[in-house]
Amino acid sequence: MHEASIMQNVFDLACDRMRAESATRIVRVRLRVGALAGVVPEALAFAFEAMRAGTPAALAEIEFERVPARLVCRACQREFEPDGFPDACPCCGSWNVDVRHGHELDLVLVEFARED
Ligand SMILES: [Zn+2]
Repeated sequence: MHEASIMQNVFDLACDRMRAESATRIVRVRLRVGALAGVVPEALAFAFEAMRAGTPAALAEIEFERVPARLVCRACQREFEPDGFPDACPCCGSWNVDVRHGHELDLVLVEFARED
């Protein structure tokens, strides 16, 4: 499953950062997910919940910042939010468009706790 392997990478990254901070527990993980990133946040959350048991992230919450798609028309430079993807420029009707936002898939925040 696509989302499970992505989540495994996020998980490893979060654990590396936790060790680098000399923390013992992961409290919160936040991902930025673009509408065109090709992943379903609910599936990422499901994968996260499946893999956190028995780890320093056992009680961690996962949050998502969803980034809507923004396209820019190469013909008239108009930037617009598409109804679907791909979509034509609402201004001039051109299909010659670039994706400006929507491909994001980033780990933006990991919160830790230290316990003695
Ligand atoms: Zn246009």
